[in-house]
Amino acid sequence: MTREALAKLDFKIQALKDLREAKLLIMQETCQHPTDELLEVAYEPSMFFDARPPFRVCKLCGYAEEGWGCGYWKLNAPREEIAQISREKARRDYVLKFYYQEEITKRRRNTERLG
Ligand SMILES: [Zn+2]
Repeated sequence: MTREALAKLDFKIQALKDLREAKLLIMQETCQHPTDELLEVAYEPSMFFDARPPFRVCKLCGYAEEGWGCGYWKLNAPREEIAQISREKARRDYVLKFYYQEEITKRRRNTERLG
């Protein structure tokens, strides 16, 4: 193995990571996120740290949204229809991409502006 060969390998690895990211975005953009495939993680108050907001994740595509204040965007559905799950299990088994409230608000604004 030479430095040059290693650099070529790094380039291939990065290209595959980029491809995976693009495929993931397409999968999540085209998913219908059916209500019966959604899971919700409950809000967790904390005495010592910042409270942890609730979030939802789609089991089919791994898209996850933090819920706080203005609620959910793409994973908006009546709370009573969504199964609950622990934070650890949701993170370990289902979340592929997690969006915080600020990112959701930003993406939502861009989408609405573009029509
Ligand atoms: Zn989905």
